[in-house]
Amino acid sequence: MAINYPLELTIGWLYPSLMSTYGDRGNLICLQKRSEWRGINIKVMPIEQQTAASKLHNVDLWIGGGAQDRQQEIVMRDLQGKKAEILGESLEAGTPGVFTCGAPQLLGHYYEPAPGQRIKGLGLFDFVSSHGSVNAPRCTGNIVFQLTASRLVQDLDAMPGNNQVAIGFENHGGRTYLGKVEPLGRVVKGYGNNGEDGTEGAFYRNAIATYAHGPLLPKNPFLSDWLIQTALIQKYQTIVTLKPLDDTLVTEARKAMFKRLGLTHLLEEPLNC
Ligand code: GLN
Repeated sequence: MAINYPLELTIGWLYPSLMSTYGDRGNLICLQKRSEWRGINIKVMPIEQQTAASKLHNVDLWIGGGAQDRQQEIVMRDLQGKKAEILGESLEAGTPGVFTCGAPQLLGHYYEPAPGQRIKGLGLFDFVSSHGSVNAPRCTGNIVFQLTASRLVQDLDAMPGNNQVAIGFENHGGRTYLGKVEPLGRVVKGYGNNGEDGTEGAFYRNAIATYAHGPLLPKNPFLSDWLIQTALIQKYQTIVTLKPLDDTLVTEARKAMFKRLGLTHLLEEPLNC
């Protein structure tokens, strides 16, 4: 395949006007900067209710942020029909994405914000989410988890300066219960999917579902680089190796978090990606 330089990626940003409550726009900024620092052009395509479904064919990398229950309901009224079909086909074909909290809840079979108020999801991830009893406390606080999704870990192993421990911040009432889908990781500190089974998130094809805000990607730049690299490989159908970036600052920030959370045994070799 002839490749026209500079390389270019289109990021499809799901309903930013409705699903940006928890700062996940930071994931977009991280992907943009870590691409541009490498000479990769980024086009951002906000996908809103008025966006024509046909535009979704142009997406090379998906992101979806967190939202309150009511906004999730509004999103699901729009994310139907052709839009849902194109998103589903794209993820099934291996287009990468990172979906945080309220976004992946809508990509499972359903999300139940309160007993009897079920929001039907797209069923792209084999899991269900429910707030449970109205008195169930929110799952809020710093989260640390060991990445365990086999192919993601294998890819990260082959990348420079990667790490297998992710740090984030969670704030959700919904609890997610996995069916036949791989967890993204195993909880080291925090609640994760439901505070019961030790799983956090899910991983399917090249799509990451996670409860970790933070935002996730600036705190874990190796995940940002994995998304960029995977999107380029999928789009250009060729091997891509990203040049390492100086991540001294984020290494120090991660060390500070591990110390603050009493997890110094997780201190890693300096990241050099
Ligand atoms: N409204 C959903 C919940 O409370 C998602 C919250 C979020 O996106 N942080 O679980």
